[in-house]
Amino acid sequence: MLSSEEIKSITLSLGADKCGIASTDRFSSAPIGFRPSDIYSKCKSVVAFLKNLPPEVIMVENPVPYTHTAHMLYAALDQIGLNLCYELEKLKITSVPVPTDNPYLFWDADNKHGMAILSMRHAAFNAGLGILGRNTLLINRDYGNMVYIGALLIDAEVEPDPIVTDFACPENCRLCLDACPANALDGITVNQKRCRENSCYQHPRGWDIYTCNECRKVCPLRNGET
Ligand code: SF4
Ligand code: SF4
Repeated sequence: MLSSEEIKSITLSLGADKCGIASTDRFSSAPIGFRPSDIYSKCKSVVAFLKNLPPEVIMVENPVPYTHTAHMLYAALDQIGLNLCYELEKLKITSVPVPTDNPYLFWDADNKHGMAILSMRHAAFNAGLGILGRNTLLINRDYGNMVYIGALLIDAEVEPDPIVTDFACPENCRLCLDACPANALDGITVNQKRCRENSCYQHPRGWDIYTCNECRKVCPLRNGET
């Protein structure tokens, strides 16, 4: 059986910037239907990995470069997950890729509320890749919130990484909550309807253009802990 370190090393060699492992028991507080074992009953561990978003891409005036980069990173992370699945298969570990972004099944149209089949930010948190900020984004120690996340469900029980507990949002920081033009953040969750209506513009040609990043931008931990 491969060790946790070997699995992470393969994942990094496939292009991930960071990788961690979560045991499935860490998802026990996730809603029923959205736990790794609800997706794949043989799942015993979750491999979470991330890629760094180029820091300047959210600082530009035109929203297209960020939208474009986001789509590129979703595809890159999905490809890493698929390649990792094939690599592990050669080593007799069965696994199932889950989408970095969409498709997903749950959609509440009235509230514009969607739920991925597996929450990527919780997978990353459970795999020791960072903390969850009050803007609801993962904050990685080295890359801050400038990350996108992918995951693979594996049927092997391997040593999980420790949960990050040695840094946190500054106690009184509310910069992201105050900066949100849609008042969509309460420090724990995001009101998706308010956020989507403000941050996603549907171009007449059918493209979704991401137009708001204020909660990411203003964060003092945006580019990492230091
Ligand atoms: S992306 Fe914009 S609208 Fe959405 S929560 Fe962040 S600041 Fe608010
Ligand atoms: S802006 Fe402040 S409260 Fe919001 S996520 Fe960043 S550090 Fe945490």
